Amino acid sequence: MTARASEFDLIARIHQRAASRGDVVVGIGDDAAILSLPPGRQLVVAMDTLNVGVHFPEDTAPADIGWKSLAVNLSDLAAMAATPTWCTLSLSLPQPDEAWLDGFLDGFLALAASHEVALVGGDTTRGPLSVCVTVHGLVDPRGALLRSGARVGDDVWMTGTLGDAAAALRQWQSHRPIDPALRARLDRPTPRVEAGLALAGIAHACIDVSDGLLADLGHICRASRVGAQIDVDALPASDALIAAFDPPARRELQAAGGDDYELCFTAPKTARLAVQDAMHACEVIATRIGGITADAGKIALRDAAGAEWSPSHAGYVHFEG
Ligand code: ADP
Ligand code: MG
Repeated sequence: MTARASEFDLIARIHQRAASRGDVVVGIGDDAAILSLPPGRQLVVAMDTLNVGVHFPEDTAPADIGWKSLAVNLSDLAAMAATPTWCTLSLSLPQPDEAWLDGFLDGFLALAASHEVALVGGDTTRGPLSVCVTVHGLVDPRGALLRSGARVGDDVWMTGTLGDAAAALRQWQSHRPIDPALRARLDRPTPRVEAGLALAGIAHACIDVSDGLLADLGHICRASRVGAQIDVDALPASDALIAAFDPPARRELQAAGGDDYELCFTAPKTARLAVQDAMHACEVIATRIGGITADAGKIALRDAAGAEWSPSHAGYVHFEG
């Protein structure tokens, strides 16, 4: 079988399994997709690439790679308060492997189905394992959440818990047994799409935490020309993280670890009840972790006793091999 024939086989398999939506005029199978935009809404587009050995360990199951490659993109739309609608998929595979593709599609299409996202096209090539996804979504004009909206006096909030994915990676790198609950957070992050949508009209600014809380909150601060004060003892931790790492190591993972795909957002103090109600409605726990200050560009970190704290590094460093 020639490589070209195999590529067609893979595309046919993708075409067969991908679900469509009513607003897809032309999907997989022509030279390009045609999508019907509802009047009065704006298109939101995001793209993220996952490379083997950089963004996921080599032993990651194909279904988990499929899940995560879409999840990280949906997370970007969640942070904009956009409703995801369509996606495209560029796959680079070392060889045409239908079993690998089937596993990949199991994860990818399961997450796509749960958010009613249609896979409408892509590209399939031969090369080192790499997955690039674009996701498209819709927002109401002026409905999007931006990084630039934070105001002095806002609370800073986090959805979910922090540090689990980085903890799994730390265990993997040190050849320790990986806690399954932590590994699940690394391999199958939950994009907070419903939470993002629920925060539209309540939150002032929002970002999804992919590079670590401090790095990503730093983006909000820079874009909004403000600073932040964070209570590091208030950072939410899972039971699995608490069981696996002692407080100093845990704090480091929570503040600076990456790959959480939780939302960090700011909202006025007067909206505390509205935030709690909105999060409750989508069954997401949100925790207040600090506040926005006028000290532009500075993130001050304090523990519950008021002592200053700083991490040994402030952003997620992609692991090597
Ligand atoms: P072309 O040579 O015109 O780019 P391709 O053979 O690359 O056509 O693709 C044929 C069709 O299959 C197109 O509709 C394309 O969007 C779709 N497609 C190719 N690869 C993928 C993929 N990995 N996921 C989804 N659709 C794909
Ligand atoms: Mg092509």
